[in-house]
Amino acid sequence: IRWTEGRGWHDAQLVPYAPLSIDPANMTLHYAQEIFEGLKAYRRPDGSVATFRPDANAKRFQISARRLAMPELPVETFIAACDALVQQDKAWVPPHGGEESLYLRPFMIANEVGLGVRPANEYLFIVIASPAGAYFPGGVQPVSVWLSENYVRAVPGGMGFAKTGGNYAASLLAFAEAAEKGCDQVVWLDALEHKWVEEMGGMNLYFVYGDKIVTPALTGSLLAGITRDSLLQLARDLGYEAEEGRISTEAWRRDTENGTLTEVFACGTAAVITPVGSVKSEGAEWVQGDGKPGKVTMELRKRLLAIQTGTAEDVHGWTHALA
Ligand code: PMP
Repeated sequence: IRWTEGRGWHDAQLVPYAPLSIDPANMTLHYAQEIFEGLKAYRRPDGSVATFRPDANAKRFQISARRLAMPELPVETFIAACDALVQQDKAWVPPHGGEESLYLRPFMIANEVGLGVRPANEYLFIVIASPAGAYFPGGVQPVSVWLSENYVRAVPGGMGFAKTGGNYAASLLAFAEAAEKGCDQVVWLDALEHKWVEEMGGMNLYFVYGDKIVTPALTGSLLAGITRDSLLQLARDLGYEAEEGRISTEAWRRDTENGTLTEVFACGTAAVITPVGSVKSEGAEWVQGDGKPGKVTMELRKRLLAIQTGTAEDVHGWTHALA
């Protein structure tokens, strides 16, 4: 779908996957005016196909668009575009029963030619799809995390709350540093004090204190994950207390050592829920709980996946079945 100044959104097309022809002076290539989303379509027991909370992705896409000075795409247009692609590619949605899905990647780029730094006056909104395997084909594995003090992902007043490519470009060197330290993932801390926990790689974090779960509050420098939001509600449905809060790296270590912080996990569309098994930073290292996936972590994971794949009741109306 195209957007041009004065005309708005027009020219929706469903076309076979093919390379885009881009002018070398396309503004996106130089100034990174780009945003994206990620969501999955799952096969349900009756053979039908449903996406999970596409309205939430559509709203977050609008928030990202505003931050990047791009035009907002109406929520219903975003959902209709995803639906049209899933309908076309229905045969590529894996069978019910596993954790495989059809992954959708909606994105928007500037489509104007020019080297001046200003918002473009033409944009392209595109959705592509790809079958996605199970994130943990051999069973859920805890990850080791590196607490990054050298690099920050987002700063106050920046774009951390937007889903834009630049945030991911800024992440790559920190991922490499985490790997050098022997860790699977990087944990982002706040930019000012390098003290407050924000996110893990491309996922939000949760801290389990017995029957209370706590996730870092949305400060503007972390992404408002849709899985994160769903878990706040789902955990309450299951009888847990669930709240947003502020967790420092000292509290993370101290509460693990005194046994009050029983489990830590990360969550996002790709892996649903990933347990954290061990933590490392400059000068400290500890095992999280017994280093194995925790009970609360696995209970929440199982229930959320059951809703997404249509085997548990969807009391919140989160699943969006194709007509
Ligand atoms: N944080 C970041 C930086 C991410 O890229 C993602 C993945 N979209 C998340 C958190 C989790 O968000 P969601 O649950 O919507 O996938």
